[in-house]
Amino acid sequence: MPDVWPEATQDALRAAAIRWLAVRTNDGLDALTSEEIAEFTFGGQGFRLMDPQRGIRKPRQFTAALSIRTTYRPAGADRPYDDDLGPDGLVRYKWRGGDPDHPENRALREAMLRRVPLIWFWGVGPALYKPVYPVYLIGEEVAQQQFVVATDGLQHLQATESPMEEVLRRYLRQETYRRLHQPVFRSMVMRAYESRCAVCQLRHSPLLDAAHIVEDRHERGIASVRNGLALCKIHHAAYDVGILGLTPELRVEVRADILGEVDGPLLEHGIKKLHGRPLMVVPRRRADRPDPELLQIHYERFRAS
Ligand SMILES: [Zn+2]
Repeated sequence: MPDVWPEATQDALRAAAIRWLAVRTNDGLDALTSEEIAEFTFGGQGFRLMDPQRGIRKPRQFTAALSIRTTYRPAGADRPYDDDLGPDGLVRYKWRGGDPDHPENRALREAMLRRVPLIWFWGVGPALYKPVYPVYLIGEEVAQQQFVVATDGLQHLQATESPMEEVLRRYLRQETYRRLHQPVFRSMVMRAYESRCAVCQLRHSPLLDAAHIVEDRHERGIASVRNGLALCKIHHAAYDVGILGLTPELRVEVRADILGEVDGPLLEHGIKKLHGRPLMVVPRRRADRPDPELLQIHYERFRAS
């Protein structure tokens, strides 16, 4: 193989990496450790997909960047994504340093000009990443020293700094949320709850959701792990429709009329018997635990229903 691979070979590796990540993450459900990400091979050889030291990975055999990385930020009270989101609803990725001609910035620019798919590794815990793929760079904002990132399906847009129609802006924000922020939120919540339903301890990732304590469009519904609960599909739905409530002291309550109902074993054991019990899974780290104020908001609504 020559030092710099032909574009077709570079593209084949990108495609192989994306297929491999889909398998290893259970089709995007699970996060991966740095060690797991290092297991990727291409043509029988190990090939690094992520640079653990730098944000931007440009393999020496490549002409354009292969992946970008965002460092894990522990949960705080602040909205974690605000600083990354542009006025158009698309996320931004900062240059490396302030030099536009830094080799890594040139590698990003090349990826933008060729519109090749990139992998975005989002830190969701120490040495734990949620890969988001494919993403595309669709513009560069030189004054802000950053690139405009589009998630899959939005790569044909033209980046623009002029104000967009509200409808389009809302659509872009929703798409970015669905393909980037929600998967990252899910990974942080699953890590905190060790991939178990907080109410019943069910442990099967495809049956688990990252639920919001209060919905995201609520003014306090921040996409932070403190507004999250890992819940199985049944308990998530029961929580959202007000069949099941959670006190700020993390005790489960079941709506009174449901307690009086007689039905099959799922209602009996899966719902009614939980009434009055403490939450079965609580994050080990205090900073990851549900925010009592958010619990209070939902609990008041549950009591009123
Ligand atoms: Zn459950």
